[in-house]
Amino acid sequence: MTDSANCRISGIETILIDLPTIRPHVLAMATMHAQTICLVRVTCSDGIVGLGEATTIGGLAYGPESPETIKTAIDTYFAPLLCGQEATRPATAMALLARHVVGNHFAKCAIETALLDAQGKRLGLPVSELLGGRRVEALPVLWTLASGDTSRDIAEAEQMLGVRRHNAFKLKIGKRPLAQDVAHVGAIKQALGDRASVRVDVNMAWDEPTARRGLAMLAEVGCDLVEQPIVRHNRTGMARLVALGLIPIMADESLTGPASAMDFARAAAADVFAVKIEQSGGLDAARAVAQIGDAAGIGLYGGTMLEGAIGTIASAHAFSTFPSLQWGTELFGPLLLTEEILEEPLTYREFTLEVPQGPGLGIALDEDRLARFRRDRTTSQFALQGA
Ligand SMILES: [Mg+2]
Repeated sequence: MTDSANCRISGIETILIDLPTIRPHVLAMATMHAQTICLVRVTCSDGIVGLGEATTIGGLAYGPESPETIKTAIDTYFAPLLCGQEATRPATAMALLARHVVGNHFAKCAIETALLDAQGKRLGLPVSELLGGRRVEALPVLWTLASGDTSRDIAEAEQMLGVRRHNAFKLKIGKRPLAQDVAHVGAIKQALGDRASVRVDVNMAWDEPTARRGLAMLAEVGCDLVEQPIVRHNRTGMARLVALGLIPIMADESLTGPASAMDFARAAAADVFAVKIEQSGGLDAARAVAQIGDAAGIGLYGGTMLEGAIGTIASAHAFSTFPSLQWGTELFGPLLLTEEILEEPLTYREFTLEVPQGPGLGIALDEDRLARFRRDRTTSQFALQGA
């Protein structure tokens, strides 16, 4: 057993990794062709290394943090605060960060993930068991159809159903005129029928009158759920849309941690919460968001910031402990990337993602792959790859 008082955080390293996506990922606010991951490695004085990840959607297109600002924040402000602190007290370290750093939820989440990974490895326990214990071994995972092309999206959905990888699909809408978007959703639902759940994410692109019309039209074509129809801060508008009772409405961008969850629960401004570990400010905060939602009778859904394997599996550990998960998850981030950075890929089967059994996050990085895709790779390393 480690002497906890003597085990300190001895180093924090941040690495930007650029990974290509399998296809353009079209959202209302950005079209992604690649994903940049800020990988965090926390080294402890007992030799244990914890891994964390912070990833955003479309650089700065989605929220106030980008992989580059996350790296700067951690290198400049987080690391000097945390180095020398007890490595075996993740909650205490996070409280120290909270006292000295405002916001920066994504960066905080990466640090908490790495501290929990290290602590799990130290104690021989999966991260889920450090968070109160998993309730399930695998999580349902939907797939986002985001090419924007109806026939291409239907073909992709059919393929996913065929290989039993996904049977729920989310369509990113809000960029095109309403009638065109609804026709796209309706055609896909008609093609898939009862074999799949079809939902949409508007990513805040509508104003309230458009949302009122949109909700009615989407309910008509068999859509199951509408995610974040209007701007994140319009809580009363969301409450008015929920009160229409046309179709379940999910809050995503609006949820920035437990306090916002409390506000939305009080105002009855969502039927469902999309809980994200990064947006919440960490795994512990995400669990608080879920508890608040559950206590208010709000359905739960495990969201993604399109994280790579590390952030995805950290999310899976947290979500596996949730009191309920009626709407499943969207933990498909690694499936959107063309390159694997783990020694063993995550296991997606029978419409689910398995929560690993090993200590910590239960995953291992492939260091050669990492060296190949890190942004700061040296010219000679790059030349070697190309040779
Ligand atoms: Mg969303």
